[in-house]
Amino acid sequence: MSCDFTSLAVAGVRGLKPYEPGKPIEELERELGIRDSLKLASNENPLGPSPRALKAMRGELETVSVYPDGNGFALKQAVADYHGLPRECVTLGNGSNEILELVARAFLQPGLEAAFSTHAFAVYPLVAQAVGAATRVAPANPSDHAMPYGHNLEALAAVVSKSTRVVFVANPNNPTGTWVDRASLQAFIHSLPRSTLAVVDEAYFEYVEEPEYPNAAKWLRRFPNLIVTRTFSKIYGLAGLRIGYGLSHPEVAELLNRVRQPFNVNSLAQRAALAAFGDHEHVAQSVTVNARGLAQYCDAFAARGLGFIPSVANFICVDAGREAMPIYYALLREAVIVRPIASYGLPRFLRITVGREEENRRVLAALDKVLRL
Ligand SMILES: *Cc1c(COP(=O)(O)O)cnc(C)c1O
Repeated sequence: MSCDFTSLAVAGVRGLKPYEPGKPIEELERELGIRDSLKLASNENPLGPSPRALKAMRGELETVSVYPDGNGFALKQAVADYHGLPRECVTLGNGSNEILELVARAFLQPGLEAAFSTHAFAVYPLVAQAVGAATRVAPANPSDHAMPYGHNLEALAAVVSKSTRVVFVANPNNPTGTWVDRASLQAFIHSLPRSTLAVVDEAYFEYVEEPEYPNAAKWLRRFPNLIVTRTFSKIYGLAGLRIGYGLSHPEVAELLNRVRQPFNVNSLAQRAALAAFGDHEHVAQSVTVNARGLAQYCDAFAARGLGFIPSVANFICVDAGREAMPIYYALLREAVIVRPIASYGLPRFLRITVGREEENRRVLAALDKVLRL
């Protein structure tokens, strides 16, 4: 039986390339017959989840026969209070990726465009193309810039047209770890037509310690066309639960609410996120471990004469000085999983998630071995 189902798929889906996640540990161990591998490929928190989140989930286990609160009342209230916004501004998502997808489904279609920067997070083109929208990709900073490969907001503003309904800015960006400062981001959003929604993706917000790094959530009253996304997957250590949120004008939130599934965020995730949100100690500890780890990598790369992209997030891209894919495979054989980013237009780089000190040492030792330094 031969059926060309691909030709039956809608145009947007026919042209899509699926998102490539970091290689799961189980897959590597199954394929190579090895054990004790280390995965620093998906920007997960090396300290694990907040103990408070674990406790909260245990208390909730017995109730999983019951549907979750579809409106996520308690968590939305906590998020709203934290940001000093009304609850109507909050949208909960099955990961912040779902918020990005809801934005695309509510605001994009064939004939409209989404804009973002070269080397920007891979989910932006995915969600836009899936609904048939066109994409406009702005050039990034050059490699010799102070923020190499980072977003160039002037170039991004220049690709925005009348048909651009959504622009995506990740701050900091994944995979580059670069960031944009308060004045530039504010000027950029200000320059947009009111009919263009600015999505500022702050998945790594809590890690950033730069004084000029902005909290875009503070600008929601000023810019009604602004949507800010945050996640519980990164510093809160809850990536497996799939939970994040969007902050926006209440009317935008109401539109996103129309297209989401009725129970898009499960009950364990809601409970765990609420508990983790209040665990400031776990967040502070995670920031400290990350800052030390970033310094550890920067020092090690510098000592080895390896280039890297300065990062403010919980990962860092190292320049292998040659095509990185063979080095990625060699590292796999050393039981170390990192992330090749050729699909992001950075074929010489590997993105390494910052782990605990001994984990970072293990990555560096494996890197030394495969690079034969
Ligand atoms: C990890 C990440 C997210 C978060 O994804 P979740 O769906 O919340 O797990 C969003 N944006 C960027 C840029 C990321 O790197």
